[in-house]
Formats: sequence, C-alpha cells, structure tokens
Amino acid sequence: MTKRTLIAALCATALTGCASVPADNLDPVAVHRDLLVLDTHLDTPLNFGREGWDFSQAHTEANDIAQVDLGRMAKGYLDGGFFVIYTEQGPLTAKGYGDALAFARTRSDTIDRELAKFPDLIRPATTAADAERLTAEGKLIAFKSIENSYPLGNDLGLLKEFYDRGVRMAGPVHSSTNQLADSSTGEAKWNGLSPLGRQWVEEMNRLGMVIDASHASDAVFDQLLELSRTPIILSHTSPRWAYDHPRNLDDARIRKLAAQGGAICMSTIFMSEINLDGERGELFDQYEDIASMSAAEQRELIRKWRALDKTQPLWDIDLDRYMEALLHMIDVAGVDHVCFGADWDGGGGIEGLMEISSLPVVTGRLLEAGYSRADVGKMTGGNVLRIMRAAQAGAKPSGS
Ligand SMILES: [Zn+2]
Repeated sequence: MTKRTLIAALCATALTGCASVPADNLDPVAVHRDLLVLDTHLDTPLNFGREGWDFSQAHTEANDIAQVDLGRMAKGYLDGGFFVIYTEQGPLTAKGYGDALAFARTRSDTIDRELAKFPDLIRPATTAADAERLTAEGKLIAFKSIENSYPLGNDLGLLKEFYDRGVRMAGPVHSSTNQLADSSTGEAKWNGLSPLGRQWVEEMNRLGMVIDASHASDAVFDQLLELSRTPIILSHTSPRWAYDHPRNLDDARIRKLAAQGGAICMSTIFMSEINLDGERGELFDQYEDIASMSAAEQRELIRKWRALDKTQPLWDIDLDRYMEALLHMIDVAGVDHVCFGADWDGGGGIEGLMEISSLPVVTGRLLEAGYSRADVGKMTGGNVLRIMRAAQAGAKPSGS
C-alpha cells in the first residue's frame, strides 16, 4: 500500500477526518496529493475519440491542447471530477430537440467508452461513497454531468434516462436562453425559469441530482435557490467582485447560496473579457470539433493556438489576480461553500494556471494564506461530496 493509498483509506470514512493525519508536512505538493481533489466541470470529453490522442498519456502544453488527461491526473494532482455532456444550444423545435438529444446520448456513450478503456486507472462514480472508495483503491474518479438541459426538449422523463446513464449533476441552460430558463448571457424571456424549468427542478430533486446554476441568469439562480429542496452548486463560476460580468455571481448571492448549504466552484474564466478576436474565435470553433479532425489538422490547430497564447491570451489575468478573487470568494462564502471548477478544456486556464499540473500551486497559496489542510480539503473535494450526499438523501422514489 502506498502512502497515498493509505492516507486516502484513512480519509475515506470521513473527509474531515483527513485533519487527524498529522500535519507533519506542509509541502504544498504533498498536501495537495494527499487531499481528495475534484474539479466540477471537465470539458475533456471534447477530446475523446480524437485521432492519435491517448487519454492515458501525460500530454504537455507544448505538444497538446488538452489540459486534462489521466497521465497528469494520476500524478496526484487531480483525483477526478465531473466529465461534461455539453450540448450546444440550437432552435427550440422538435427537430432541434431531437438532434440535441441524439448528440447528448452519443456524448454520454463516448464518455463511457473512453473510461472503459482504462479500468485500472479511472472508474465511473455516481455517489460520494463511490468517490471515497475509488480514492481508497488508488483509482481516479469520473462523475458525469450535463451542461445545458436543452436536449431534454419538453420531455422531463428523459432526465431519468440520463440519471440511469450515470449523470448526477445538471444545469438547465448554457449561453442562450432555452425552453427551461433564461441564460446569464441570453434574453430574459421567462424572467427566470419557465414553467417547464420549474418542473425540471422538481424532477432533479426527486431523482437526487445536483442542480448546477452556472450559466443561469441571476433571476434563475434566485428561483433555483428558492425552489430546490437540496443545496445547489455553481460548477464553474467566478465572483462578480473580480469582474462585472453576468456569468459571475455577486457577493450577496454568494452569501445566500452559502446560507442554503450550496457551493460555488471557482473558475478561471470571465475575470476579464474573453479575447476571441480574429483567429482565436475561428480556432475556438475548430477546437469544439477537434474529435473529427485528422492528426495533421489537430497539430496545425495546436500550433496556432499555442502561438496565440503568447501574443493574445484568452483571458487577461494572471495567477495573482486569480488568487485575489479566490480569497475574496472564500471570505464571502466561507470554506464550507467553495469548490473548484476551472473550466478545463472548455476555455479555462490563465497565465500561471494553464493546466492541472499547476493545481498544487493554488493549494500552496491557500496554505500560505493561513487555511488549514482540513479547510483546503473541504474546498478541493469535501464540499462537493457533501452536496452530492444531500441531493441523494433528498431523492424520492418514483410515484411519491
Ligand atoms: Zn460553461
């Protein structure tokens, strides 16, 4: 049994129990390695099925565009997270819904197929207990989530299908308003949730799935908080204090979220305006279809993408500013209501924090700021598992 496996086993019974492990070593890398570290929004499935790309390898910034792979996760930097079934918003028509549903089902199958290739390294998880067990076994953890519930169309019964496919977290909406809810960056069509969106909340609660308010408008956030019987999460959202953008959450709402028992997972995005000018915008569109590109086309995209990172970064902030924003968010929310969802492989990453191998740096900064190992552990994983447990405990068997 390795030290890591041993510590994981010790922590497995209760995450806060990790505090009882003697704090004999505050080396940030060692502390980070020994905590359960989850990220709540991994867009990595975009890369699944790419010609010539191997999920199990440790790629680098220099040779690849992906920010997450098993090679870098397994080194102890990231124990797992929520792999996202993201569906682009399309028309609110029967045809639009049908196409989106087919896409979401395929994406779910793609995730399953990719995970099944590496059963010794990573396993699917649907409960907090699964996550703790897998960590104790020295395996990485793969939850599934939905970004944009548009593919459900008008049939909320489909949520159960995705539950059965292993999905345990979902957000109603993405960057455009849909049949369920107003987007933070879309039109205010419903002044919050639509009537169907309100039923979606009920069904999410009934199934025991965690509601994700990232991308939802402020009015939707307020209504989710009011309607949900269990704590909600924002899987990849930054504080509006850092940058006044509708994708971010203001301090008053962060306090209300904490009071309800929820958590906001700190992102690396929208702490400046996104710089998608010129070639970057074109490359971003290409990136979303990278799984269908030839190996040569991928190499060309990666070369251009990395060249732009030097001259025109996507986000105009660095690690120091990220830490200011994170520490502010912790001040407002409290250590029991913060988590991490950087938006890896979906546009996340800033100077000094461009991929997951840099995560121990953040742990180091938190320890320097005076947070204990136990506090950091709540934020890296404990809070997310608590919210999953609450959602699960609130589930009602069908018919009741
Ligand atoms: Zn997103």
